[in-house]
Amino acid sequence: MPEIAYVLGPLDGKAGQCDQRGPSKVIIISEETWANLCDAQKKSVVWHELGHCVLGRSHADQATISYMIPDMAPCGFYETNDAELELEMFNP
Ligand SMILES: [Zn+2]
Repeated sequence: MPEIAYVLGPLDGKAGQCDQRGPSKVIIISEETWANLCDAQKKSVVWHELGHCVLGRSHADQATISYMIPDMAPCGFYETNDAELELEMFNP
């Protein structure tokens, strides 16, 4: 498992980002956005960025049930589909 740092910082309109420019990958979480998310959305941001940084995933089609969809869904979507979302990360 690679070592990945997490930092809070300003991001232009995005909730998170996997920064792969340096010698090690860094997940940047928007401090401003984070404060306004429910727990299920926070979990989705972490899964999404781990998907990029660890699993090498790219964005999923809007029609799929996936944490890799780039747009933030309502809290209820993540709560309702929790198990399916986690499975999909390893079985796209
Ligand atoms: Zn993304």
